[in-house]
Amino acid sequence: MLSSKSGVNNKRLHKGLISTLLDLVYPPVCFNCGQEGEWLCQQCLAQIKPLNDRCLICRRSKTQQQGICRRCRLETGIDRVVVVGRFRGVLREAIHRLKYEDERCLSPILAGAMVRRIKQENIEFNYIVPIPLHYRRERQRGYNQSFLLAWEICSHLRLKLLNILTKVKKTSNQADLDKIGRRSNVTKSFRSRVKFRKSNSRVCIVDDVLTTGATVKEAARVLRRAGAKRIYVLAIAA
Ligand SMILES: [Zn+2]
Ligand SMILES: [Zn+2]
Repeated sequence: MLSSKSGVNNKRLHKGLISTLLDLVYPPVCFNCGQEGEWLCQQCLAQIKPLNDRCLICRRSKTQQQGICRRCRLETGIDRVVVVGRFRGVLREAIHRLKYEDERCLSPILAGAMVRRIKQENIEFNYIVPIPLHYRRERQRGYNQSFLLAWEICSHLRLKLLNILTKVKKTSNQADLDKIGRRSNVTKSFRSRVKFRKSNSRVCIVDDVLTTGATVKEAARVLRRAGAKRIYVLAIAA
């Protein structure tokens, strides 16, 4: 027991040491402006404007800083939706690099931006739940980007990470489907491994990008059934 625990710590230490050494050899450079120091610099992040005017789920109705309209709130059981910005330009590029080009070094920077947004919105919760990948896709990629983000956010906010959703159905890429196809594509695609017993369990779902809202809607439905009282959604972009 003890040896396996110290094994994990050693592994972490090694990983930390290796990335520090790599940073010395190849100092981080902002992919957007080329400035040395970080893989995505704070100046480039500061230029991203928050999205508050429209519902981030249906994209139609206007909202008052909730990120979700009344109708979607009633329909989905999601209380608030918070994103860093629109899915274009620097955020689009960052998400692409994080997901498809193995640039995991971007996850702490993006998670930092997500934490700043959630603090601005004054939302408090006790658990963070990442959107899972199907195990085959995760094995292919080697990691789940939403888990990486959730892990970083948890260490910032000192909260508990609950990796409790499992993807039970392999789904197609949401972007390739029409509206009806998207909904049936994700229906019954998740399962929660635990039930919430605490009466005040407030859960924040973490996703990379809200393309259609269908994925987080389905995750919210499952978490509600598992007993979560309040549900928030936090993503990089929408
Ligand atoms: Zn920059
Ligand atoms: Zn809406």
